[in-house]
Amino acid sequence: MNKTVAFSKNSVNVFFHILTQCNLNCRHCYINPAQHGSETLSLETITGWLRIFLDAHRQGNLILLGGEPTLHPQLDRVIFAARKMGYDSITIDTNGYLFHDILTRVTPSDVDFISFSLDGATAETNDAIRGKGCYDTCLAGIRAAVCRGFKTSLIYTVSSENIGELEMMPALLEDLGVNRFFIQVIGIRGKSAAPGRDHLQVDRQTWLDLIPRIAERVAESGITVTYPKVFLAPEARFECAGRVAENFFIFPNGRVYRCPLCEDYPLHSLIIENGGLYETRPINERDLFSLDIPEGCVMNKLVQPGNLSYSEEGIPQYKIACCLLKEEVSGKSA
Ligand code: SF4
Ligand code: SF4
Repeated sequence: MNKTVAFSKNSVNVFFHILTQCNLNCRHCYINPAQHGSETLSLETITGWLRIFLDAHRQGNLILLGGEPTLHPQLDRVIFAARKMGYDSITIDTNGYLFHDILTRVTPSDVDFISFSLDGATAETNDAIRGKGCYDTCLAGIRAAVCRGFKTSLIYTVSSENIGELEMMPALLEDLGVNRFFIQVIGIRGKSAAPGRDHLQVDRQTWLDLIPRIAERVAESGITVTYPKVFLAPEARFECAGRVAENFFIFPNGRVYRCPLCEDYPLHSLIIENGGLYETRPINERDLFSLDIPEGCVMNKLVQPGNLSYSEEGIPQYKIACCLLKEEVSGKSA
């Protein structure tokens, strides 16, 4: 079944960067220590901040991020604490290096998903983006996690540099035995926003021709696929998650964003200070969420307008959806 996943008011999604340190140096990394800090948060700080976002009346989904979150020496204790405190689902997003023997320190009942990032179906393409040896390490990490009974997912960030290998992914995913496949679209932020990197975005026709078809093929092997809508017809309804959903993107310096596209700028609408969560003063991302423009997403127009297209009269030919709006294709049982 193919469905658009509407923004939900019934869940709180906490994307928690517990550190910004990483062993890799990927070409498209969005982590920006000048904006996000370079601290490794202590267990005590992490648990204190996690408590702030818990809501007894809503499902709590925690996604643990870095940098590389498995570099945190107490990641296992973060996970135990989050579960005990009441988070309903816990996911670790990793580059596959799985430091501190994390697979032996937590069990599949402690963690709902371990999500691996791979940006090519071959070592040649993936390692050109993520660094030498990453492909083999990531695949070995996925196999080890599957072997231990963890549910796994794979995230593939699509850009002009790796879209050509998506056709090879259905076979690889089936061979690896992952449960879910997340297709992401490159965001022009962090290193991807550097001069000379403006060729990365994928055009509408290529996206529409390829992504839904690949998703269907992957789903044939029982793997559920999620991908961003990205392009909306001009008459389609546009909705900004910043106005209607409960998503929090937390960084070690205490900044809390509601929109990932704002993360390169001091536009965070919330900040954690002395253990409390406070609203920041205008102008911040909240002021942008309320703007209605014919192109759809305001932040997209400001930071990555290369995916927009206009008629000769200057009318947008389509809208860009909120980057958090997803299409889901359920895995089909054999
Ligand atoms: S693994 Fe993630 S955090 Fe580390 S360099 Fe790559 S994109 Fe950045
Ligand atoms: S990506 Fe655009 S539409 Fe989505 S939350 Fe950010 S500003 Fe709003």
